[in-house]
Amino acid sequence: MNEYKFIVAGAGFSGAVVAERIANILNEKVLVYEKREHTGGNAYDYLNENGIYVHKYGPHILHTDSQDVINYLSQFTEWYGYRHKVFAKIDNSYIPLPFDFKGVEILLKGKEKRLKKALLNRYKEGEKVPVYKLLESQDSDLREFGEFVFEKIFLHYSKKQWGVNPLTLSKEVLKRVPVYIGYTDSYFDNKFQGIPAKGFSSLFEKMLNNKNIKLMLKKDFREDFKLRERKFYYKGKVFEGIIVYTGEIDYLFDFKYGKLSYRSLRFDFEDISTEEFQPVAVVNYPGKEKFTRITEYKHFLNQKVKITTISKEYPGEYKRDGADFNIPYYPFFDKKNEEIYLKYKKEASLVKNLFTAGRLAEYKYYNMDNAVLRALKVFEEIKRITQK
Ligand code: FAD
Ligand code: UDP
Repeated sequence: MNEYKFIVAGAGFSGAVVAERIANILNEKVLVYEKREHTGGNAYDYLNENGIYVHKYGPHILHTDSQDVINYLSQFTEWYGYRHKVFAKIDNSYIPLPFDFKGVEILLKGKEKRLKKALLNRYKEGEKVPVYKLLESQDSDLREFGEFVFEKIFLHYSKKQWGVNPLTLSKEVLKRVPVYIGYTDSYFDNKFQGIPAKGFSSLFEKMLNNKNIKLMLKKDFREDFKLRERKFYYKGKVFEGIIVYTGEIDYLFDFKYGKLSYRSLRFDFEDISTEEFQPVAVVNYPGKEKFTRITEYKHFLNQKVKITTISKEYPGEYKRDGADFNIPYYPFFDKKNEEIYLKYKKEASLVKNLFTAGRLAEYKYYNMDNAVLRALKVFEEIKRITQK
């Protein structure tokens, strides 16, 4: 272990970025632990037997306004300029999301003129309004409209996704998919949207293929590193180097302040002998079906194949040792978990050679771009203290 001054736990975006920077910029050796059998974390994809790039842990699209993220990641990949479209299947119609004037016209026929006028009186064209704002509206037309959209799009979908009414969760959750005042043509409105031309896994391969990086797959960092009284031990000796941890924060501290809740998912994959199953990559099902969405993967890279692969996505409560739902996908945003997390955060800040980054270690709903930005920031901090 004397060989390594830098240890990274986890090879998703957060861990891979920090490891790559240490290896390339500091020219130091890094040991990366990844407990899965592959890198990429939840962004992992693979070419399946039909020749289609499939995202094993759900559909991933890079969408960002950060030129720093684009510049950084473009060192390792070319991009396919995919623009993400999502439809919701409601009463047998495809309604584009975010819910916009097209949805008003399809689902609220007869009232559409009056409603569009009322919305434009209250909001600016192009404005993005979270549905809870409409629910609080003083204007009864707008409030009724909010109730309609909430019921049709958000309530049942979110109950499946989170197990609770979304109004009991942090506002950040519903803010992600606002109602759009006007017409829009993509799920996201960032200036950049794309997918690595050869898939996310080839991006990770390029990042981590470095003589300074040793990657250990199928190995949990905690098997080798023990944390006692704010110090890490390796084989009984104090480890003085730097540790970057991107796994679950409660697990790192043996759940001493209680378990944090996460939502998990199950993906049921199917091959279907048809060229196109649905018109866009992702169709949400905000109704009574048990699954939340169906993804048809060939749309992402516009792959022309005679057959197609889809996945149905079933949410469930995360169970660390369960046979199913044993991957922590989403931090669960309520007051109780926030309070528990803050205790772990404080505890982590007292371990002087520990850095935490990512969705699991910071218990934060990071998209990939923000996970990359955070990891770059952690690297800058590491650089600063090691070059003192
Ligand atoms: P992860 O990807 O979870 O990686 C953590 C890694 O650490 C894992 O590989 C894990 O096995 C490993 N690990 C954990 N503990 C240990 C340990 N003790 N020892 C060794 N290894 C360990 N973002 C977007 O920008 N666009 C999207 O379209 C998008 N779609 C998404 C769809 C779904 C269904 C989900 C769940 C997320 C989506 N995201 C999307 C978010 C994206 O997945 C995250 O931003 C990103 O994965 C965060 O990377 P991370 O490294 O922090 O975490
Ligand atoms: N949401 C919903 N219906 C939809 C789409 C989203 O209720 O058709 C809610 C749901 O609570 C979801 C949140 O909005 O968790 C954020 O949606 P997003 O598509 O960003 O979810 P993610 O990609 O993170 O799963």
